[in-house]
Parts: sequence; structure tokens; C-alpha cells
Amino acid sequence: MFVDLDRMKQVNDTLGHNVGDRLIVSSAHRLTAAATEGDLVARLGGDEFAVLTRVAGARRPDLSAVALGERFRQAIATPDPALPSGAHSVASVGVAIGAPGADAETLLREADLAMYRAKQAGGDKVRIAVDIGARLGPRPASGEGIVPAIERGELRLFYQPIIGVNDGRVWSVEALVRWQHPQHGLLTPDRFLSGVHRARQLPALDRWVLDRACADLAAWDAALGEQAPRAVNVNLTVETLSAPDLAGQVLAALRRAGLAPDRLRVELPESADLAQLQDAVRQLRELRDQGVGIVLDDMGAGSATLRHLSVLPVTGLKIDRSFVARMLDSRNDDAVVRLLGDLGRSVGIDVTAEGVESEDQLDWLRQLMVPYAQGYHLGMPAPADHLTALLRTGRPRGVARVPIAPHVP
Ligand code: C2E
Ligand code: CA
Ligand code: CA
Repeated sequence: MFVDLDRMKQVNDTLGHNVGDRLIVSSAHRLTAAATEGDLVARLGGDEFAVLTRVAGARRPDLSAVALGERFRQAIATPDPALPSGAHSVASVGVAIGAPGADAETLLREADLAMYRAKQAGGDKVRIAVDIGARLGPRPASGEGIVPAIERGELRLFYQPIIGVNDGRVWSVEALVRWQHPQHGLLTPDRFLSGVHRARQLPALDRWVLDRACADLAAWDAALGEQAPRAVNVNLTVETLSAPDLAGQVLAALRRAGLAPDRLRVELPESADLAQLQDAVRQLRELRDQGVGIVLDDMGAGSATLRHLSVLPVTGLKIDRSFVARMLDSRNDDAVVRLLGDLGRSVGIDVTAEGVESEDQLDWLRQLMVPYAQGYHLGMPAPADHLTALLRTGRPRGVARVPIAPHVP
């Protein structure tokens, strides 16, 4: 189990490092108290802890893993009355279960990755590593970070079209980062983002993506003119969003590429803790006022969705693909897609359904009047030059009935 405190930075920043230290000591005591005879509780460094335990004879190992993780999540979530108020933190917990003989390195890495997913889902959560080993194969060392890879020119941007549901036009493209790793091949973000997070290099990654995406859009403008995508969507991490010069950085990237601000949309992790984004609100508002689109990603997958919508200056939202995947079979999921579509219409923001994998789903979105869609059915993420060809011929892969033409502003 990998246990990582969610609010350590705020506690240090607001109450000082002495109180931060006491929070760490208290967390260590509480984790130890929650452990059972024979468990090993360790502090890995900073606000990261690990617990090694034995799950013997569990009939549903995944269930008992959740229960185990929950025990330690709760141990941290229950405030310590001995600490000053405000010195409280919840924790993100990742659990990995190894077969007998599994090596420590792999277990810890998988637990770390699961912890990172818990954090991305808003913190104070437990996530389980699935199919350890079988799923991923080797992964680059998690502490390596991304800066050397950027310097070696190993990062790539893939683009996935976002399509108008009614007219089939490419409305925007989302930039998705890949790492062309010299040993491990082409890696998707789930293989390396947690390592970048741990090396505290997410802002460097985001800066590179931002610059690259703006440059690629400018190149499409030059090559395709009116047929170039209307905008590019870029994912930003919480770490970047809380940087004091966020607006300056984003606007500078646009300037460097010679793009108007309304050509860029930044996607915010919906799961981001509102407290974490508090400082970002003013800067996001400035960006929005300049014309930059502000899009809430993975809406419905996290916890604080509606609050985020009312607090943040958003211009769009993306319906998480888990709802789209099940909307044809589940009344509840259908209701969520409907609700978010209606909500978008009534408050006047763009709504995009993610993860569209079939023509039936696309048809249904049309009936629900969800205006934009993205997914394998409409186009796989692909390198920029593949997309150039697609934009020229005007027809994304997989779409037979909807004619595709570039969006004309
Ligand atoms: P996301 O922002 O929700 O991105 C969409 C993910 O869904 C992409 O995975 C995409 O390949 C995948 N996807 C697209 N269509 C479908 C579909 O029809 N079905 C299914 N099952 N999946 C689909 P990818 O590229 O592996 O990215 C995963 C996550 O990594 C992203 O989720 C985003 O949170 C993060 N990420 C990706 N690129 C960047 C980046 O440049 N910067 C930052 N900060 N985060 C990134
Ligand atoms: Ca996204
Ligand atoms: Ca998404």
C-alpha cells in the first residue's frame, strides 16, 4: 500500500514546517495503529508512507484490498485532536497485491501508480492496481522524471479530433502526450505520469506540451488555412494550475506561436481539489477573459463536479467516458449524460462526450443534443501529420455516415 498525504503542502505553507512535521509524526502513529501484527509500516520520505501486509486466503482479493486500503485511508482521514485545526490532511492510498514471490520493486511501483490515480480522482480515495505485471510490462524508473527525456527530444504529441455531433466537422483536437522511450517503446501517459509527478516535473511536462501544441496548431494554419482545426485542447495538471504565473505562461506560449487566445482550450482535471485550485481561479478568469477556453475534464468521474462548475470560470465540460460507455445499457448512466447535456445548454457552455466507440452511441448523443463528441470511433489519437492528412481528406476513421469537414468559424 502506498499512502500519500494530500494536503501536506498547504499545511506547510499556512502553518509552517513545525506543524507539518507534527502532522507527519501523527500520520505515522495513526498508520501504525491501523496496522496489524506482522505488518511493516514505513515512511518512504516526505509525506509518503508504505505499508506491507499479508492478504492470506482472501476469496475476493480485490475486495479485501479495498477494505485494507480503506482502513489506512480512514486512519488518516480521522483528524488528530492533538494537532492544531487546519493541520489536518486526508490521504491517497494505492494498493497492489502480488502473487507469492512478486518482487518488491514492482509491487511498490504499482501501488505508487494506483496512489497517483487516487490523487487524480480528488484524493482521500483508495485505488487498486489491476493485473499487476500482465498489464504493463517494464516501466521506466519512476524517479527518473521527464526533463532529461524532453531534452533528448523523446516526447511526442498525439492528437485526437473532437467532432461536432451534428455536422461531423472537426471542431478541435486534444493533445495527448506520448513518450518515445529508447528501451520501452511508445509509452502512454499512464505509464509515466506518476513518475513525473513524483519527480515534481509535471509543470515542465505541461509547459512542453503547451508550447508544442500551440506550435503544431500554427503549423496546421500555415498548411491548411481554413481547414486547420479551430482550436487545440491541452491537459493541465493541478501542479501547473497552482503556479503563480499560470496566466502569463499560457499567454506567452500563445504569443510564441502567434496564435489568438481563443485558439487554445485548457482542460482542468475535474478531480482537482477546489482548495488546490483556489489560487488558480483568478488566473483562470484572466485567461477566460482573454478568450482562452477553460474545460472541465472527466466530468462526473470525480467528486465535486457541480461545485467546480459554479466556482471555476469554465467555458466547457467533457462528460467522462465511463458514462458514455454505459449510457445505452444503463438508465443511470444515460441520465447523467442527459443531465450534463442539459446543464451545458442551460448555462451556455460547450459539452463534449468522451469515449465514443460506436455509431449507436453517436446517434444517441445526437438525440440527446450533446453538441460535441470524441472517441476511437471518431478518430484515434495520432501524430500531427496523420491528422493533417485526415483534415485534408476531411473524413476521420470509422465514420461512415457523418461527412467530416473542418469547422468554419
Ligand atoms: P484524458 O484527458 O481523459 O484523455 C482521454 C484519454 O482517453 C486518452 O488516453 C485517449 O487516448 C483515451 N480515449 C480516447 N478515445 C477513447 C475511446 O473511445 N475509448 C477509450 N476507452 N479511451 C479513449 P491517453 O492518451 O492514454 O491519456 C490518458 C490521460 O493522461 C488523459 O486522460 C490525461 O488525463 C492524461 N494526459 C494525456 N496527455 C496529457 C498531457 O499532455 N498533459 C497532461 N498533463 N496530462 C495528459
Ligand atoms: Ca483531457
Ligand atoms: Ca477526459
